Amino acid sequence: MKIGEISWTDFQEAAPSLALIPTGSTEQHGPHGPMATDTIIAESIAERAAEETETLLLPAIGVGVSREHANFPGSLYFSPEVFRDQLGEIILSAHNSGIDDFIVVNGHGGNVSSIKEVCKALYHDHDVRAIEWTWFNVISASGMGHGGELETSLIMYLREELVGKPIEKGSESWGHSLYGTRWAYDTKEFTENGVVGDPTEASREKGENLFNKSTEKLIKLIKSMRN
Ligand SMILES: [Zn+2]
Repeated sequence: MKIGEISWTDFQEAAPSLALIPTGSTEQHGPHGPMATDTIIAESIAERAAEETETLLLPAIGVGVSREHANFPGSLYFSPEVFRDQLGEIILSAHNSGIDDFIVVNGHGGNVSSIKEVCKALYHDHDVRAIEWTWFNVISASGMGHGGELETSLIMYLREELVGKPIEKGSESWGHSLYGTRWAYDTKEFTENGVVGDPTEASREKGENLFNKSTEKLIKLIKSMRN
């Protein structure tokens, strides 16, 4: 049930107590990956899980905390403050209509800490139960990187027509490791083509498998929050 496709009377009748809100980004994902990679993945997982559990789906936030990609043409980004405000206010306005439980279905690593801060504040200040859920943190699979094997596989499965050429290997690690800590503020400093990892290993089959695994986990979480 997508909130934008129902009327206020439908909403009143359904009286939803739980809602999903997808968060992603519009940022470079290498020469082959669409800018909306993170948003497409988060939205698709949330959509499928919402359908299967008859859960309300709120509009996605399609720009994220992505300043690390600012030196690649086309990347958009919010400051963490603006991103937190948007997420918090969407959730609070839905809470005003009677929804107490939320799952933020996220596809972008740079959003995680901001989402967690919003969820904590909502719990303490408003009695709202909101959970940060990021697909690549709940499944065990190697090859994440950025525009790498996992994300490219998922886009091949979900929106094959958006995968461009050339598909090329990227750098091996996200930033530079310095005595146990990490320096990774500007993607341009550690990957020339924008990719981290190896998207040449990607396939549609791998994407389907990742999609099903992630969606199953989300469905389990939705069911347990309901009980
Ligand atoms: Zn991504």
